[in-house]
Amino acid sequence: MEVLRHTLDACRDASAKHGFHVHYAMKANFNPKVLDMIQSFGFGADCVSGNEVKAAIDHGFEKTKVVFAGVGKSDREINLALDADIFCFNVESVQELNIIDGLAAAKGKKANVAIRINPNVDAHTHHFITTGLDENKFGINIWQLPDVAAALRQCRNLQFLGIHFHIGSQITDLEVYKSLCTRINEMQDWFEDHGFQVKVLNTGGGLGVDYHSPDNNVADFENYFQVFKSFLNIKPGQEVHFELGRALVAQSASLISRVLYVKNGLKKNFLILDAGMTELIRPMLYQAYHQIENLSRDSKMNTHSLKYDVVGPICESTDCFQKDVDLPESFRGDLIAVRTAGAYGEVMASGYNLRDMVGSVYSE
Ligand SMILES: *Cc1c(COP(=O)(O)O)cnc(C)c1O
Repeated sequence: MEVLRHTLDACRDASAKHGFHVHYAMKANFNPKVLDMIQSFGFGADCVSGNEVKAAIDHGFEKTKVVFAGVGKSDREINLALDADIFCFNVESVQELNIIDGLAAAKGKKANVAIRINPNVDAHTHHFITTGLDENKFGINIWQLPDVAAALRQCRNLQFLGIHFHIGSQITDLEVYKSLCTRINEMQDWFEDHGFQVKVLNTGGGLGVDYHSPDNNVADFENYFQVFKSFLNIKPGQEVHFELGRALVAQSASLISRVLYVKNGLKKNFLILDAGMTELIRPMLYQAYHQIENLSRDSKMNTHSLKYDVVGPICESTDCFQKDVDLPESFRGDLIAVRTAGAYGEVMASGYNLRDMVGSVYSE
């Protein structure tokens, strides 16, 4: 928890300097203790399901700081968020605008909306976690904006707040965000030219962390926020919002597993762990790298190191954390840490093979 605290401190300081608003993208880690701590730092919540909206409210996030995104919000989820009087719906299609308008009208309410625009900016990250290109399902394409403007003029139960973007995850090249700023400036001009006041610029999240140095654990918040300060055309009275997930929580947890078996093959040595893709699926899902350490052997003392394919117990050949990992010679019973597992780890756990759900242990 200390790493988390330290990270949240750094993010809060770096964003407060510019008066920026940060929402925690809670899909990255919705562990109750994690939510409680993040809430206590005053961050808002970025939710992508009705249950996340409910969890955010239950954990004390202020409703005026809860935003709700997602391409497939169901009527039940929209109603739940309307009842909770959240700050804003990030709307991803013209059809969704009309549906929210109708549901809000039925309740006699006005829903705040921001338009999620697909800016066609390449995030230069893995293609499985790129969201802001024309070919992606997220957001509204730029050529559809005239339809959006027409719908907004017609929908009496919607209040247009501003524009929203989220172009991908694990973005480590800040140049990408400069390109995003250029596009946001163009888009806000478009809305203002068409008679809409843009009060909120929501730039999304995606700031990456260094999976190769898990001990160097605070993301580059200073330079990240500075890019937006320098390159966004922020008008007087306008609010700039962010939705950070991974960068806030990734480095604060490791997956700890035990070696069940060591298999020495002709070509390969395998370390078979008691954890696999049911506990941490990122390596199998998007070829993600996580640093792997043997906690039971001191790598400095032990000169005898071997290459291992570190694999899980699940009946799938893709259930491999990493191939050819250099580790001290390892034995049955050794504890293995898979580092930087605090984001998109436990939350993606599954019951495949009827496995037990992964447990959580906290430090101070
Ligand atoms: C997932 C998501 C985020 C957070 O992404 P990170 O890469 O974890 O920072 C922010 N906004 C939206 C809409 C998302 O779907």
